[in-house]
Amino acid sequence: MNPFQANQLTDLLEDALPQTQCTKCGYPDCHGYAQALASGKALPNRCPPGGTEGIKRLSAILISIYPQDAYELHPTIDPECGFERPRSVAFIDPNRCIGCTLCIQACPVDAIVGASKQMHVILGDWCTGCDLCIPPCPVDCISMLEITDQQTGWDAWTIDLANVARMRYHTRDQRLDREDRDNADRLAKKASVKLAAINAEDPTSEEAKKEQERKRSIIAAAMARAQQKKS
Ligand code: SF4
Ligand code: SF4
Ligand code: SF4
Repeated sequence: MNPFQANQLTDLLEDALPQTQCTKCGYPDCHGYAQALASGKALPNRCPPGGTEGIKRLSAILISIYPQDAYELHPTIDPECGFERPRSVAFIDPNRCIGCTLCIQACPVDAIVGASKQMHVILGDWCTGCDLCIPPCPVDCISMLEITDQQTGWDAWTIDLANVARMRYHTRDQRLDREDRDNADRLAKKASVKLAAINAEDPTSEEAKKEQERKRSIIAAAMARAQQKKS
């Protein structure tokens, strides 16, 4: 398979994944798992949100390159990755939330709103049930509520929901990139003001001159780091 075909296969596989970005497959996101599947490094039974139906969908795509039907060989989710279950939505107990913002930082689809030292709220329509906000909460005030009764996997999830989750994941990525660049910009400006102040000093002793040089090199290193982040 040439790189173009590999990319095409990755795209097809990624389109067939639920996009919760939960990392339960052992990869950083759905795209990472799709890449591993396309290169033959992972089996199609590692995605609990897709469940058994998900394994069938992935196997049907993979059969174009691998002769044996992976679904027949691996018809159930690898327990190492978790279990197929009803769709869940996170809920924050408002009486216990201390407003630490750690859950916001962990949510891959920006489905939590709140500010420092204020109560946080989950936006249920956008919550993918990925569970990633649970471990960082220092007061254990987030619980997962099942909302689809007996329906699990793709029976409890739709392509439309997957598309929304995927779009929100990419939008969040772009926001984080933008914030990183803005932060680097702020640091670079601060460093440049400091450098101007140091350059304006007029040291007379050898010791003071050395100190001025030391400060200059610290600031130059900070500016180089900020520049690297910006680019
Ligand atoms: S939904 Fe979760 S387990 Fe499935 S591929 Fe995406 S990140 Fe992996
Ligand atoms: S609110 Fe929690 S469970 Fe819901 S998507 Fe965000 S991190 Fe995942
Ligand atoms: S991690 Fe827990 S305590 Fe912190 S803001 Fe989120 S819900 Fe509140």
